[in-house]
Amino acid sequence: HRIITSAAQLDDEALEASIRPKRLSEYLGQQAVREQLSIYIEAAKKRGGALDHVLIFGPPGLGKTTLSHVIANELGVNVRSTSGPVLERAGDLAALLTNLEAHDVLFVDEIHRLSPVVEEVLYPAMEDFQIDIMIGEGPAARSIKLDLPPFTLIGATTRAGLLTAPLRDRFGIVLRLEFYSPEELTAIVRRSARILGIACELDGAQEIARRSRGTPRIANRLLRRVRDYAEVRANGHITYDVAQAAMNMLKVDAEGFDELDRRLLNIIIENFDGGPVGVESLAAALSEDRGTLEDVVEPYLIQQGFLVRTARGRMASAKAWRHLGLTPPPRQPQ
Ligand code: ADP
Repeated sequence: HRIITSAAQLDDEALEASIRPKRLSEYLGQQAVREQLSIYIEAAKKRGGALDHVLIFGPPGLGKTTLSHVIANELGVNVRSTSGPVLERAGDLAALLTNLEAHDVLFVDEIHRLSPVVEEVLYPAMEDFQIDIMIGEGPAARSIKLDLPPFTLIGATTRAGLLTAPLRDRFGIVLRLEFYSPEELTAIVRRSARILGIACELDGAQEIARRSRGTPRIANRLLRRVRDYAEVRANGHITYDVAQAAMNMLKVDAEGFDELDRRLLNIIIENFDGGPVGVESLAAALSEDRGTLEDVVEPYLIQQGFLVRTARGRMASAKAWRHLGLTPPPRQPQ
């Protein structure tokens, strides 16, 4: 674990906060999700009630946390944030819930990592706005029911399949975030550049967008690193050439793949003849955690058609072979 937070990291966090969208109109892309939400939010406001519980799923960096804050802002309510692994005991959740005001949003990141005892407390809270808490110990212990104000739980997770069925069933609204198109990411990069006062030409922004793995967090991070490069090498001005040179230096290739992406494809091809190979063997060969592969690395490679998931394991597609400058064998999936 990193103990020391570097100045650059703090700087990044402050910049991050300044470019985070606050309203639905600033939340770019995700057209279908935005359309649905604007209707549900308006309906909840008209009824004067709390918005139904919302489950947001999608790979890291696509905007789940941002969207939960946007929803609270649009509803005009407070948001409290926590995450699955932080809520260790039932009392931790009870304390949060009893402090909510009517119609507030409780955001739980990584909700699939809640412990079973905490999840048990959540069920009646979500369904009936009630919790059972134990008072005292030993023979004198008794359970009392507490009423909660009506609230909206927003849960975020990388994959919907990670949730237990009873928890998943208690969300009235389920939103799936998709990877962003290069055009959407271009708009995000241009907006961030404007807020941060970075001079960035259209084709520079497009090049950053194309190499951002469909992910706003990566787009914003690349923008800042390209800006650093531009400040030292090109008077701070981001053009197409500057963007390209900076990202080549960062080892982000033309498809937006980083070293781990290339290493994964390379290992499937070199060590496992293109696959199929099980995810556990792949994780071992890469010395990476299986969850990181499944949540962070694979989804984009699959969406872009470089990796194919079959019943017997992962396969590199012919496209992956060509990307690494190799000739695919005839039977490899396209
Ligand atoms: P997640 O919670 O899914 O990991 P975040 O909500 O932290 O992702 O988003 C990462 C960053 O990307 C945010 O700081 C925000 O600036 C940016 N971002 C995410 N979604 C959007 C969007 N739809 N429009 C503009 N910027 C976005």
